[in-house]
Formats: sequence, structure tokens, C-alpha cells
Amino acid sequence: MENHGSEFPRLNFKAQIHVAAILVITVVVSVHLVNRLIPRRLAAPRQWDQGPILDARFIVGPLDPEPIDGTCPVHHLQLEEDVVRIDYGLIEPMEGEYPMRRDQFPFANSSYLGGCMVCEPTRAKILFCSECREAEKDWLESWRH
Ligand SMILES: [Zn+2]
Repeated sequence: MENHGSEFPRLNFKAQIHVAAILVITVVVSVHLVNRLIPRRLAAPRQWDQGPILDARFIVGPLDPEPIDGTCPVHHLQLEEDVVRIDYGLIEPMEGEYPMRRDQFPFANSSYLGGCMVCEPTRAKILFCSECREAEKDWLESWRH
């Protein structure tokens, strides 16, 4: 019994070193992973491709034309459905942007302006006209050059 008693602690000691080594490696690897993953997640903008979708197809904002018959009043194309990012906050328009949008591409709807109150949905289902999107793209291009 005494022999067993003296062997067990030795085995246990070795086993403890193994366990301790595994724990240390686990902790080091975990800290490394957490350090690598979490700052990137914090730095990344709010994920917009998850969570509830606001149905904004028939919400008419002060600048929006009314989608009376489901066609674009400028291009006379059937409006299509899309899910786009919601931009919250006060978004400063570019010079002449509002009249341009109203007259040239009222249904581009490449993103949805959610206003200053940040709510849970990050995406909105909207109606858009493909010609309006083309016109908007050209207009944005002309601003870059
Ligand atoms: Zn259009």
C-alpha cells in the first residue's frame, strides 16, 4: 500500500504537468485567436446582411415619387424588388443630389435612408428601376472624375 502510495503521486505529478501544459497551450492559442478575431469584428462595420428586413417597398419618403402603378415615372420600366442596406443617420446630400434623383433616377434605391433613429433592421426590401440604377451609377462616376 505504501509503494502504491508513493508511485501514485509521481504519476499524478507527471499527469499534472501534461494537463498543465495542455491548458497553457489552450490558453495561449485561445488568446491568440481572440486577439486575431475580435478586433476585426469590432473594427468591421455593423453586419447588414443578417437580421430582420424592413419592408420599405411602399413607404414613400418626402423625396420619393409615389410608386402609383409600379413603374418608374422616368423610364417607364416595371419596378423590381431588391434588399438593400439601410443607412442610418443624417446623410449629407451631394450638391444638386435631390433634384437629380427626383428627375433622373427616382427609383435607384441603392440603399435605404433609415433616418436618425437607429433601429434593428439593417436591410430594407425596396422597389427599384434598373435604368435608374444605371443613371445613378453614371452620375456617381461623373462625381469621381
Ligand atoms: Zn427609372
